[in-house]
Amino acid sequence: MFDLFPTVLFPFQNSQQSKEKQTHMMPSPPKEQNNPLPQTNAQDTCSKKHTKDDFCAVTISETSPNLMRYIGLENQGATCYLNTVLQILFRTEEFREAVERNVMNKSSSTINNRIAQLFEHLKSGERNTATTEEITAELKINVHKQEDAAKYLQKILNKVTPEISKIFQGRMAQTTICINPAKEHEPLKQVKTFFTLSISLDSEPPVHMQKCFDSYFAPIIMCGEDQEVYCKSCEMMMKTKIISSLQEVPSVLVLHLERFEFDYDTMCYVKNYSSVQIPLQLSVKEEAGVNHTYDLYAIVNHSGSLNGGHYYADIKDENGWYRFDDSVVYRLEMYIPSDEAYLLLYKKCEFISKCLIYV
Ligand SMILES: [Zn+2]
Repeated sequence: MFDLFPTVLFPFQNSQQSKEKQTHMMPSPPKEQNNPLPQTNAQDTCSKKHTKDDFCAVTISETSPNLMRYIGLENQGATCYLNTVLQILFRTEEFREAVERNVMNKSSSTINNRIAQLFEHLKSGERNTATTEEITAELKINVHKQEDAAKYLQKILNKVTPEISKIFQGRMAQTTICINPAKEHEPLKQVKTFFTLSISLDSEPPVHMQKCFDSYFAPIIMCGEDQEVYCKSCEMMMKTKIISSLQEVPSVLVLHLERFEFDYDTMCYVKNYSSVQIPLQLSVKEEAGVNHTYDLYAIVNHSGSLNGGHYYADIKDENGWYRFDDSVVYRLEMYIPSDEAYLLLYKKCEFISKCLIYV
């Protein structure tokens, strides 16, 4: 699976907004920090960029209503990116149940079984923390290498069986219309499945996620020397209109905020620190004209800079919002999505009355 059409969907690629940028000159590996990009081999563990002063620590005996304790995950070196993804997958009820249903041969070494094993530990509550060693071994992860949480969510969803990953899968159509007044012909329509959508943050401030998401589906006109698209029918580069639409919405919609981009002006990677207004509910329009409401239930945050940082996850359940920061879990008394949001997970609300919002 892949992020769809990331290079053509956003008309704002070259705009210079008032976003804060930090250049990245391929530095040496930062100590005690974790990088979102797989470029270096840090040998130290992640640093904690934030404090728990504002939050209530979860007591050992505290459990969620379905009797699952809040268990942290040990950081093996620089694996906070993986911990955030696994905690979210575990706390996504439909995913967890699908994993449990699909354990066929327990002795076989598959990612399904490794995840099922971890989920068993998390559910049993026998220890205060669980280890991800079986999973990092299965995925052949160098635990001291810094990686990207979005990449590893995608990787895990690609590796588990389709029955398990299907709640994250949607279908997108991209229609390419050649604008040739002298020769009318059929548009080209391509349909692809996806697990995550990469959303550009390069819009006029204040950056609002609903606005950025809607921009994803706005028609784009590709014209000018560098922008025209080759048309097979006209056999030449042509001014082209591109329209993207959701043919089938997923049960869980994952939005990947494009905070890490390559800047062609400086030929360096940059982090976009834009403050993003994140709605607790997102409106999503399907191609057939049906409007869906989605409820925000989990966020992967990335704190720090491009060449050094830390991942942690905020997840909502029936008790409220909790922060999962490697081996430690906190309850968040009052929840406002932070400026460090990197991945947003929205669950489709079948019935609006079932959407619980904790603020
Ligand atoms: Zn044409």
